[in-house]
Amino acid sequence: MTIEVLRIGQRVVRDDRVTTHVALVSRAFGASKIFMNEINPEIKDTVSKVNRSWGSNFEVEYIEDWRKVLKSKKKESVKIVHLTMYGENINDVAEKLSKEKDILVVVGAEKVPRDVYESADYNVAVGSQPHSEISALAIVLDRIQKGRQFDVKYDNARLEIVPTKKGKQVVTKTD
Ligand code: SAM
Repeated sequence: MTIEVLRIGQRVVRDDRVTTHVALVSRAFGASKIFMNEINPEIKDTVSKVNRSWGSNFEVEYIEDWRKVLKSKKKESVKIVHLTMYGENINDVAEKLSKEKDILVVVGAEKVPRDVYESADYNVAVGSQPHSEISALAIVLDRIQKGRQFDVKYDNARLEIVPTKKGKQVVTKTD
């Protein structure tokens, strides 16, 4: 299964921090790429630095037009999963999502245009209450992969954490 994320509608500067966190959650929760437009280049640098230290080949791809991305992914039979509090309850669709082959998760910032709801294969609500794209994304990625994303180890990691009950244990890997 390949999971990618499309971030739409973010406002430059005002949403930079949340967008950075959307990218970091995408990476840490098993997505392989995030598409975003109008972004602060520092976000890409931040993610590259995290990749260099902690591994993974997670990509940030700049796009001009998110509608084009949606269209081309649909053509490739990728399932579009739009996160919205108005959608179907995650509890009712998680099992079906976990069996899909390739998924593009769409997360909004400000008001999401109507055509996104229409072109989505799934409009998914993580509870029917407004909250945050960061939390909604984390929960959906976890439900789709049933926690398997946390067992992944990266061959290209320079640093690796050894989980411990107390304190911090980090191994520095040499080539
Ligand atoms: N007011 C905006 C609207 O009506 O589309 C929502 C803004 S919300 C801060 C930003 C994004 O968080 C949404 O586009 C959606 O992707 C996500 N989100 C917020 N609450 C959610 C929920 N309960 N379930 C799923 N996604 C949610």
